[in-house]
Amino acid sequence: MEAATSTVDISSLSPWLAAPPRSQTPLRGELEADVAVVGAGFSGLSSALSLRREGLRVAVLDSQIAGYGASGRNAGHLTPTIGKDLPSLSRMYGRARVRGLLELAEVAISHVEGAIEKHAIDCDYEPVGNLIAAVHPKQHDVIDRTAQVATEFGIPGELLDRSALVARGIPATFTRGYLEPHGGILDPGKYLRGLRRAALEAGAQLFENSPVTGISDGPPAVVETAGGRVRCQHVVIATNAYTPQLSRLDSVAVRIQVQLFRTAPLRPEQLERIDWRGREGIYTAHELLESFRLTSDQRILGGSKFIRAGFGKGILADTDPRVCRRLETVFRQRFPELADVPVEQHWGGPIYMSLDFLPRVGRSGARGNILHAIAYAGHGIAQASYAGEMVTDLLLERDGPGSALQSRWRIPVPPEPLRWLAFQGLTRYFEAVDRRVDRALTARGDR
Ligand SMILES: Cc1cc2nc3c(=O)[nH]c(=O)nc-3n(C[C@H](O)[C@H](O)[C@H](O)COP(=O)(O)OP(=O)(O)OC[C@H]3O[C@@H](n4cnc5c(N)ncnc54)[C@H](O)[C@@H]3O)c2cc1C
Repeated sequence: MEAATSTVDISSLSPWLAAPPRSQTPLRGELEADVAVVGAGFSGLSSALSLRREGLRVAVLDSQIAGYGASGRNAGHLTPTIGKDLPSLSRMYGRARVRGLLELAEVAISHVEGAIEKHAIDCDYEPVGNLIAAVHPKQHDVIDRTAQVATEFGIPGELLDRSALVARGIPATFTRGYLEPHGGILDPGKYLRGLRRAALEAGAQLFENSPVTGISDGPPAVVETAGGRVRCQHVVIATNAYTPQLSRLDSVAVRIQVQLFRTAPLRPEQLERIDWRGREGIYTAHELLESFRLTSDQRILGGSKFIRAGFGKGILADTDPRVCRRLETVFRQRFPELADVPVEQHWGGPIYMSLDFLPRVGRSGARGNILHAIAYAGHGIAQASYAGEMVTDLLLERDGPGSALQSRWRIPVPPEPLRWLAFQGLTRYFEAVDRRVDRALTARGDR
C-alpha cells in the first residue's frame, strides 16, 4: 500500500511534519467496509483503533496524509482543559454536567497515556503537567478561581504563589499559577505517527491523498472520492476545522486560525537564565491565552493569543506576517532574559470552536448513521484522541464518559455575515480585556 509522496509539501507545514512517512495509496475503485472514517488526525485514527477493537472493518480516508491538519501542527500540551476554562465551565453548567465533563477530560488524558504505552509510541512525552499562569496581579483572581473550582470538584492541582513558582524554577515572568499535574508535553508529530502505525497494525485500511467529495446516507452509506467509493453502514466525520468543506454540520463551530513559533535551541547558559527545571507546559490566564513550553531539543515553542477567522468558507493563509511579528514581541516581553535567542520558525493551523467551547460528538443524517467528533476548541490532543471511544460508544449505543457531551443545549453558529461579526465582536472584547493586563505590565516597566 505504500505509494508516492503527497501532492502538498507536508514537511514545510510544521516542524513536527518535517519527516513525514511515505503516504498510503489513494482509494481506487469500490470498497466495502463497516465504517468509513473521513480524516486521519487524532480523531480519525483513534476512531479507527477503537472500531477495529470491536472487530469492525474500517476504511480511513484523508485528503492529504495523516496529521496534515491540526494534529500535526499543534503545540503539544496534553491538558485536561475542557471548554474555555474552569471558572467559565462552572458558571455555564450545573454541578452534575461539570462533574461529567471534568471526568471526561481526565479520562481522555489517561487514554492518551495508555495509548502511548500500549502502542510503544516514542513521542518525547514528559508527564510534567501544565501551569495556568498569570503575568500580572490583575490575573491572580482568575488563577484563584480556577484553583477554587478545581478543589470544589476534587480535581488534583496546586495553587502556586510567586515564591512557590520560584522554588519550582518557573521563569520569572509568571507571578502566580495553578498547576494541573495530569498531562504534560509531547511531540504531536511522533504521537500522530505512532497512532497511524497502530491503526494500520490493527487492520484499518488507510487511504491518503483521497479527498472525500461526497457522503450519502444510504443505505448503504457511500463515501465518494475522485478515484473510488466506500460503501458502508456508518460514516465518522473526523475532519474538525475542515468540516465545512464537506457541506455538513455547517452551524456547529467556527474555523479559527492559530499560529505558533519556535526559537533556536537554547544553549545551556541560556537555559540556565530562565531555569524552568520542571519543564511544565505553560499557558497564560489571558482570555486569548499565550502558550509556552520547552521542546526535547531545548527550544521554546509558543504562540496562540492572536487568532483569525475568515469569512464564510474562505480559508486563510496558515501564517500572517503581522501575527508573526506580534508573537515575537510577546515572546521578547515574557522572556527578556533570552534577547539573544532567535525565533527560527513560525507556522499555523486551524482549530474548530463551537460557541460553548465544548466538543461536538454526535449523529446526523437522515438515518442517524453519520457520526461526527469535531470542535475541540484547541484542546484536542486529549479529547480528539478519546474521540474514537466516544464515537464507538455512540455507534454501539453504549453509555460512557462521552455521554457528558450529549443532550445539552447547543448554541448554533449563525450564518454569514453574523458569524463573522460575532467572531470580530468576541475577539475584540477578549483582546481589550487582555490589553488591560499587558498595558499594566508595560506601564509598570516590568516587561
Ligand atoms: C496551532 C495549534 C496549536 C494547538 N495546540 C494544542 C495543544 O497544545 N494542546 C491541545 O490539546 N490541542 C492543541 N491544538 C488543537 C488540536 O491540535 C486539535 O484539536 C486536534 O488535532 C484535532 O484533531 P482532529 O483529528 O479532530 O483534526 P485534524 O488533525 O485537523 O484532522 C482532520 C483531518 O481531516 C482531513 N480532511 C479534511 N478534509 C477532508 C476531506 N474532504 N476528505 C478526507 N480528509 C479530509 C485533513 O487532511 C486532516 O488530516 C492546537 C491546534 C492548532 C492549530
